[in-house]
Parts: sequence; C-alpha cells; structure tokens
Amino acid sequence: GDALAVSARVAPLGSRLVLVLVEDMTEARRIEAVRRDFVANVSHELKTPAGALSLLSETVIDAADDPEAVVRFAGRMQNEATRLTSLVQELIDLSRVQNDDPLEDSEAVAVAGLVDEAIDRCSQTASNKQITLAAAGTEDLHVWGNRGQLAAALGNLVENAVNYSPARTRVGIAGRRTPAPGGDLIEIAVTDQGIGISSMDKERVFERFYRVDPARSRATGGTGLGLAIVKHVAASHGGEVTVWSVEGEGSTFTLRLPEAGRAREKAEANRRGR
Ligand code: ADP
Repeated sequence: GDALAVSARVAPLGSRLVLVLVEDMTEARRIEAVRRDFVANVSHELKTPAGALSLLSETVIDAADDPEAVVRFAGRMQNEATRLTSLVQELIDLSRVQNDDPLEDSEAVAVAGLVDEAIDRCSQTASNKQITLAAAGTEDLHVWGNRGQLAAALGNLVENAVNYSPARTRVGIAGRRTPAPGGDLIEIAVTDQGIGISSMDKERVFERFYRVDPARSRATGGTGLGLAIVKHVAASHGGEVTVWSVEGEGSTFTLRLPEAGRAREKAEANRRGR
C-alpha cells in the first residue's frame, strides 16, 4: 500500500530513514483512525454543552429578578462554554497533526513563543481557579519542527496541568538544553501540584481515549485524546514525552525535542544527499 510506495521513493536515503518513514506512515494511518473515531464522538460531545448553554440562557432570562440565581446560572454557563472551547481546541489540534508533515515543514521554533501560546490557551481557566502559571529558562531555546504541531503538544500538557490541579496551586514550565549523543535536546517540563497519576495509569494515559476518571475529564471538555496527540507529535519529531508523578502530590510531563541548530544541519545534509 502507501507505506511500500513511500519506502521505494526514499530508498536512496539509506535504510534507517526508510524505516522511520514507514513507521511514520502506519502512525499516520493510526492518527487517521483516531480522527474518524473522534469526529464521530465529538459531534455528540459538542451537543451536550451547546444544549446546556441554550437551556441555561433561557433560565437566566426567566430568573432576571433573582440576582443570586442569575450568578449561579451564569457560573454554570461559564463551565459549559469552557467545555465547548476545549472540545473545539481539540478538533483544531487534531487537524494540525493531520495535515502537516513535520519532516516537510520543519523550522526553528522559539520555545518562549510556544510557551506564551500554551499559557494564553488556558489563561481563562487558570484565572478562574487562581492557578499561577510561571515559565523559566525558555529564553534563547529553539526546537526544530512544525510550529502548529509543537504548539498543540505543549498546549495540551499545560492545559492538562491546569485541568487536573486544585485551585490556588502553581503550574511551572521549565526549559533547558541538554547534551545527547545525536545532538543537543531541548527539554520542556510542565510541573503541576495536582491530583497526580498512579503508577498503574502512568503507562496508559498516552493511549487514545484513555482517561483515569472519565467524568472528571468530561467536565473540562476532555476526550482522552490530548496525550495521544502529544506522544504522536513528540515521536514524529524524533523526540519523546515522559511522565513523572506522585499520586496526590502532582505530575511532571517532560517533552524532549531536537535542538534547532543541530537538527537543521542534519536536515540540510539529508537534502543534499538526495
Ligand atoms: P483528557 O482529554 O481526558 O484530558 P488526555 O489524553 O490529555 O485526555 O489525558 C488522559 C488522562 O490522563 C486524563 O483523562 C487524566 O486522567 C490523566 N492526566 C493527564 N494529565 C494529567 C495531569 N497533569 N495530572 C493528572 N492526571 C492527568
């Protein structure tokens, strides 16, 4: 099928790269399957907050002379709106992962910009919960990859940190450059003081549609796809994502990605070799 066609096309580049691309094709197919499942599910999931919003707004109008009730219903409307936004965001992420081939569209991407975008994305929820978002060490770091996909990956990690943490806690984002055998890596660690993840669930949270507590996840617009997207993006960029967590204390998710300078040289050498 497609995978064979691709391997034939890139054969002159050497067998290791061929293997990587073939793996990438099956991964692309897997993501396509995820997308199909997701579109089927999401149409249903979107209906719930949309319906609730419409009912709640009618209720607010009816309760116009009862300020306490108005505040209560407006609060519920806010929750439903957040859930709706988060579902739509997940659709956007999935379409980014779908359409762009990171091997084709890679560029040097400033980590500070990705962090700003990720913080913007959940600033509303964070301020509702009085969660402090703080970044450190991200200046002058550049990763090599597809900007939209990298934004989706980091955005999901920060969003989860905020969603699975109690009010008045802190979410830290720390960047650093570390040496590695194949060239420097950039590490971006997202640390929360949230509910944490048991060692039993740690392996499984990266599976698509896996949620430790479906009811809790659904309340924040979760679909169980976020971490599957993060893992896919990390792997297709030649990086990885890992988790460290203590239940009841918090979690750290660490993204490791190729540093831009060295990765660009490699990409250019490959292109010349072709
Ligand atoms: P969801 O849309 O449910 O957030 P994800 O794929 O992003 O889906 O995450 C899968 C599950 O992993 C979540 O439902 C949650 O149970 C758990 N999880 C993810 N991030 C965290 C975190 N920072 N702290 C605690 N649990 C988390």
